[in-house]
Amino acid sequence: MSHDTQDQCALCGRHPLKTTVHHLIPKEKGGAGMPTADICSACHRQIHALYTNRDLVDRELTTVAALQADPEMARFLKWIAKQPLSVNPRVRKSERVKRHR
Ligand SMILES: [Zn+2]
Ligand SMILES: [Zn+2]
Repeated sequence: MSHDTQDQCALCGRHPLKTTVHHLIPKEKGGAGMPTADICSACHRQIHALYTNRDLVDRELTTVAALQADPEMARFLKWIAKQPLSVNPRVRKSERVKRHR
C-alpha cells in the first residue's frame, strides 16, 4: 500500500485521488516559484478549458478561493463533487478559450 500519490483535491475536495500541481499564477505571467495548488486532473483540465492564462490573471483567479467562487467553476465543482472518483469527464473547451490557442 502506497500513499504517495493519493491526495485531496484543493478545489473539489474529493479524495483520495492523484493530484496535479496547478500554478495559481501562470508561469509565463511571473508565477514561477509562486503558490501552487494540488488539484485533481478533472479540475485542472476544467480550469484550463474555461480560462486562458490571461483570463486567470485578468480575472484574479489566482487563489483557490477565487476559483471556487467563479460562477463557471462553481457550477463544475458542484457537479464533480458528486461524481465517483473513477469518473474522468471529458472537457469541452469553451469557444473563447479555443480561439486563444
Ligand atoms: Zn478536483
Ligand atoms: Zn494549471
